[in-house]
Amino acid sequence: MTLKEYKKRRDFSKIPEPSGSVKKGKGKLIYVIQKHHAKRLHYDLRLEIDGVLKSWALPKEPPTKEGVKRLAVQTEDHPMDYASFEGKIPEGYGAGTVKIWDKGSYEMINHKDYKLIVKINGKKLKGDYVLLRIRLKEQKNNWLFFKKKVEND
Ligand code: MN
Repeated sequence: MTLKEYKKRRDFSKIPEPSGSVKKGKGKLIYVIQKHHAKRLHYDLRLEIDGVLKSWALPKEPPTKEGVKRLAVQTEDHPMDYASFEGKIPEGYGAGTVKIWDKGSYEMINHKDYKLIVKINGKKLKGDYVLLRIRLKEQKNNWLFFKKKVEND
């Protein structure tokens, strides 16, 4: 896991975003969604995996109920200390304001290259969620994010 791509895109002398000094999470795995008013409004879903925040940008509001599937475009890994970041990115990549939309912890239920099942414990999002990679032509970064159906037995 590397933050090369994250650092490559940013000039930390000009922006308030963290440069990535915190290496490890403590205790529970971090879950956070940041509402990002950039050129286009989107929601950045981040999950702590192997010491970085794996990140997906959702063009629409994350689903709180079953039956809603959202596109989630995987973006570059972010440093752990990004989880608490809120503020205004003045210029360049991602310019706009960032606010925490939901946060908490999560448990990894199943982890495959193309599919993650996570039990999210946030304020807005609660329960089992699925991230499923979809392949559309050459685009490798597209995933679907949705709440897992509860199976009644
Ligand atoms: Mn963003």
